[in-house]
Amino acid sequence: MSTTAVCQRTRALIPRLIDGDLSPEERSEVDRHLATCDACRDEQAAARRALDALQSLSPEDRARLRESALAELGLGEPPARGGWVGRMLLIVIAALVVWFALRLRGDRTWVPDARSGASTR
Ligand SMILES: [Zn+2]
Repeated sequence: MSTTAVCQRTRALIPRLIDGDLSPEERSEVDRHLATCDACRDEQAAARRALDALQSLSPEDRARLRESALAELGLGEPPARGGWVGRMLLIVIAALVVWFALRLRGDRTWVPDARSGASTR
């Protein structure tokens, strides 16, 4: 399935959708698109899985893994809160954190599959 401008807009809104931070108009626009687009639904599911896994960690583990992820990305500090760049970065960090967490648990057979195909831009 090809990626359209609507897909790009929807994906930009997914972090805020998960935060419950969309206006009613944005929310229904995203819901309408997700109902018809497998690729964006996969993207949303991957983002939600990453955040769920992140939230299941203890605050200490979360802070430690976040530091590791930021270091991995070559960033010393978290980005300023608010902008979409910061939010997309948080999603990337969350995905990395999940990968770290699974590796720490010794589950080396798990391969992050969220980026394969669904998110080709
Ligand atoms: Zn789409």
